[in-house]
Amino acid sequence: MSELTPLHSWIAQKIGCPPGALTRAAIEAYQLDKLNETLDLCRAKSPFYRQKLAGLPATLTSLADLQALPFTTADDVRERPLSLLCVSQSDIARVVTLDTSGTSGTPKRLYFTAADQELTRDFFHAGMSTFTEPGDRVLILLPCERPGSVGDLLDQALARLRAAGIRHGLVTDAAQTLSVMDKEKVTGVVGVPVQVLALVRTAVVQQMPRPHLKSVLLTTDHVPDAIVQAVEEAWGCTVYNHYGMTEMGLGGGVECAARQGYHLREADMLFEIVNPETGKALPDGEYGELVFTTLTRQGMPLIRYRTGDVSRFLPGECGCGTVLRRLEKVRFRWNGRFPHTSPNFLTMADLDDALFPIEGVLNFAATVSETELRVTVQAEKNEGLETAVLQALSTLPAVQAAGLAVSVHIQSDKVGLPGKRKLTNY
Ligand SMILES: [Zn+2]
Repeated sequence: MSELTPLHSWIAQKIGCPPGALTRAAIEAYQLDKLNETLDLCRAKSPFYRQKLAGLPATLTSLADLQALPFTTADDVRERPLSLLCVSQSDIARVVTLDTSGTSGTPKRLYFTAADQELTRDFFHAGMSTFTEPGDRVLILLPCERPGSVGDLLDQALARLRAAGIRHGLVTDAAQTLSVMDKEKVTGVVGVPVQVLALVRTAVVQQMPRPHLKSVLLTTDHVPDAIVQAVEEAWGCTVYNHYGMTEMGLGGGVECAARQGYHLREADMLFEIVNPETGKALPDGEYGELVFTTLTRQGMPLIRYRTGDVSRFLPGECGCGTVLRRLEKVRFRWNGRFPHTSPNFLTMADLDDALFPIEGVLNFAATVSETELRVTVQAEKNEGLETAVLQALSTLPAVQAAGLAVSVHIQSDKVGLPGKRKLTNY
């Protein structure tokens, strides 16, 4: 049996229960209490929720009653952020502005109080302790500069573990980052998958001393298995995945040593899987859209927030023995599948799985239409790559079913781009 996730005793402590006595019933009773507290707070302080919750029962008597509550969408957050606030703006410690992905062109803004930020720090502390020990030296390849940024909170969480966080920021030069790893004698790295891939795959780093790490944490919406394997092979380390989004307060869940899905922040958020078309709750094991409700957030609580991410709760117990649930790795966003109408749809994860196993592929961008899939691959050189990429793409079931023409362009002058990648329709 794998080592028990540290999230088990962390959550037990948060809900006031001895770790040995933690049960689903204890977690759910706590969640119901906190849900009612959140609903009271929202009704009292948020004009948006006062209106949304009007006419609904004042107190829920069971978590199943959650089904009666309306969803909150990304557009709600985008269009009326201040009406979701439950504190005055002077009590807000950090505002995160996200790139717009909607049609309105208005960016999404999320508001956090100092207490909300402490919840994230506390989760990072517990989550990182899965694979970090006192004395470890962890290179942070995430934005760190601003107070309250993800890298800043992570660094503070590492200090609580008596581990050293080394603030680096996103990778812009793989060789320079490798030098820092060598000089700082790092034992662990936290970064974005394609950025960490650049550290093991670009030619310049092949000539440099290979770092020997204990662990790497990759954080994003979807972590391709091929990147996990490439990093583990190159550095002889174990790669863990973290799943989260800004709306969750940056952190959502992290794998345990069994690496069979994410354990979630169940004392801070209530997670559901719903049918993306009907909004009806789905049982464990079935795929649907992940929806969450914050249970402990003060600044901008979110009730039944639709993430757009598709996943499922894995049935059965985790190999680590906890009663915490496991969310399967998120593979795609409901709106990130093409064509929307076909059961044989294509997602960015399908392309990740086809392309990242190919040696030399550093990153790619893709667009798809009714008739054509266009992929631009970033690689340092083309030798044989175009043929390998074409072949991998042509055998994808969705490409074959739709009879898509595939075109490939190899771009070798600009590699290792950071950031969130998505499949776009044109
Ligand atoms: Zn586990």
